[in-house]
Amino acid sequence: PVDRSAEVQEARLKLPVLGEEQVIMEAVRENPCVVICGETGSGKTTQVPQFLYEAGYARDNRIIGITEPRRVAAVSMSHRVAKEMNLPRQVVSYQIRYEGNVTSDTKIKFMTDGVLLKEIQKDFLLQRYSVIIIDEAHERSVYTDILIGLLSRIVPLRNKKGMPMKLLIMSATLRVEDFTENQKLFRTPPPVVKVDARQFPVTVHFNKRTPLEDYTGEAFQKTCKIHRMLPPGGILVFLTGQAEVHSLCRRLRKAFPFRKSSTAKQKKTVSLPRIDLDNYSALPMDEGDEDREAGIGDEEDGGSDLELGDDPAETDPSIPLYVLPLYSLLAPEQQAKVFRPPPPGTRLCVVATNVAETSLTIPGIKYVVDCGRVKKRYYDRVTGVSSFKVTWTSQASANQRAGRAGRTEAGHCYRLYSSAVFGDFSQFSEAEITRRPVEDLVLQMKDLNIEKVVNFPFPTPPSAEALVAAEELLVSLGALEEPPRSGRMTDLQRAKLSCPITPLGRAMAAFPVAPRYAKMLALGKQQDCLPYIIAVVSAMTVRELFEDFDRPARSDDESSKLNQRRARLAQMRRLWAGQGASLLLGDLMVMLGAVGACEFAGCTPKFCEENGLRNKAMVEIRRLRSQLTNAVNAVCPEVGVFVDPKMAPPTEHQVLCLRQIVLAGLGDHLARRVQAEDMLDPKWKNAYKTTLMDDPVFIHPNSALFKTLPEFVVYQEIMETSKMYMRGVSAVEAE
Ligand code: ADP
Ligand code: MG
Repeated sequence: PVDRSAEVQEARLKLPVLGEEQVIMEAVRENPCVVICGETGSGKTTQVPQFLYEAGYARDNRIIGITEPRRVAAVSMSHRVAKEMNLPRQVVSYQIRYEGNVTSDTKIKFMTDGVLLKEIQKDFLLQRYSVIIIDEAHERSVYTDILIGLLSRIVPLRNKKGMPMKLLIMSATLRVEDFTENQKLFRTPPPVVKVDARQFPVTVHFNKRTPLEDYTGEAFQKTCKIHRMLPPGGILVFLTGQAEVHSLCRRLRKAFPFRKSSTAKQKKTVSLPRIDLDNYSALPMDEGDEDREAGIGDEEDGGSDLELGDDPAETDPSIPLYVLPLYSLLAPEQQAKVFRPPPPGTRLCVVATNVAETSLTIPGIKYVVDCGRVKKRYYDRVTGVSSFKVTWTSQASANQRAGRAGRTEAGHCYRLYSSAVFGDFSQFSEAEITRRPVEDLVLQMKDLNIEKVVNFPFPTPPSAEALVAAEELLVSLGALEEPPRSGRMTDLQRAKLSCPITPLGRAMAAFPVAPRYAKMLALGKQQDCLPYIIAVVSAMTVRELFEDFDRPARSDDESSKLNQRRARLAQMRRLWAGQGASLLLGDLMVMLGAVGACEFAGCTPKFCEENGLRNKAMVEIRRLRSQLTNAVNAVCPEVGVFVDPKMAPPTEHQVLCLRQIVLAGLGDHLARRVQAEDMLDPKWKNAYKTTLMDDPVFIHPNSALFKTLPEFVVYQEIMETSKMYMRGVSAVEAE
């Protein structure tokens, strides 16, 4: 029996999923696997675990497990469910990569999908769990897909052994054919329970023009206009990344200042005409030409149905805007703010990335402003070159975003692009597994004794080409046995020729990092190099240690501040790069120096701020270092490594050893400087040639090796920005 508060009880009754409790539970009783589809906000994540709990799935020391693709969701949903059920957090708990509050009393466990995959490696049958819920399956994250493939085998195995287990797949969209109509995955298609969301109508307004560059500026204009002219109701703005989110928040706060004291005043004078232009101006002078357009305008239909409030008091521009950012890496306390009602007399405005699209439901949103774009990491299939690109989102995502406006009453969605542009969007986003290299997954699967990865029941299989590339890399790293040589073969034939895992491969699979880095960890025992390798691997895995000061400044003042901080970081980089032999370790030595110095200073925000380091990244590196240190000790107890907060710089001899280890891991990422005599085309000036690409690649001006330009280097990755730049470069001896 669950003892919920009256308030929670009342809120629950409004959720559409509650009406389907019996249907869902009956389907679960009668089928090993069930798919539940329901709009975001219909109550799937918060309620379905409670249904299962009340139906007894957590009895007899068993656990209800729920996986989320995002850490944010795992943490905040576990807190929410604990609160709704009036149970302590040691009973409704969460586990994400580095932290959690799981205890022996845990009955409901929210976790990231990566955490569950690791648990499958420890206990393939997941015996503690009576049911696993795969949440947000529509996102098609790589781990979600792999888990569904694995669970499609684990569930029948458990049933055969007389320890029944259930699988629930939950999706915010109706597009679930990849799961239900995939014979390889489920021979009998699982039943689909649809939850009809109580969705209010959302009027979609397209822009007449589509700004190609300054869509944040456009989002700013639109948000200001909505706030000045339209009736109360929260505004949710979708942008693509953290930097954009912060920049828009700053501009909006400046335009509509929010001060605690002014809210109090607002409250007292609520019956008077609320005009207080001394305190607030609708738009600061430098922020655009507000006379140019009187209305929100610019919609295709002329903006006639813009529903300017009937009551002029409702459209008073002096109401402060309560602006909150929301993105995955934001601290949890900050994230939690979006769920609380805004201070009285203010309008809520959340500026968010994709997180707000389906995993979190923000209450009280009536207006959505959608830039129509999304930032994703792209990989070149052949060369592995990666780049972050902002591209158009899919029609399905754009519709999800619009839907956020109709949760509590009828709403409006302002799309900052034309309907013609929308028509050109792809219908759905591609599954992540088809867009990235898969060597890490292949290694994990081999470790699970799935030898023929091609035969694995992927909801959407990666290409044969990607599988072959992964096996080849793993063979070259010594993680898989060499295949027998046998003439010419097609990719598919080669993919079918699966290579068994080696003991080294098993050790590598135990480290939660990419196989190239896992190899370095496995070799790190020599010359007491392990603490350094652990630090470097942590830094390479977390990436983006350094602040990016190359962004354009908004004012002279900001520009001079940026210049100062940039200069300081450059100076620190030189210091961290060390001297003599250390210099050859290049950017990896800089990372090592930065990690060492930051740890020595206690990893404080102040130290990071002063020295151009990203505190979030440094905190994560610190956690990963201790996690990897534990993992190394578990695989190889005799080495007895520990995290030394006063790590001395490596000796000359150790530096040499480190370079060899780095080369062993990054051997396929070798580049040679183009010799003067080969240089027929000026585009090859100071360029390097890699084994995989015809085009030149370069050492970035920020790199420690930019001035030296050694003949041979290895690199962590190639990132395409204004040019093809190698990142994480270190020098290799010419033989
Ligand atoms: P779904 O998983 O179907 O998208 P959820 O179960 O996440 O739906 O959300 C159901 C309702 O619970 C939503 O109206 C949401 O606003 C509310 N809710 C979720 N988390 C919180 C929270 N931390 N605080 C307050 N309300 C919340
Ligand atoms: Mg959900």
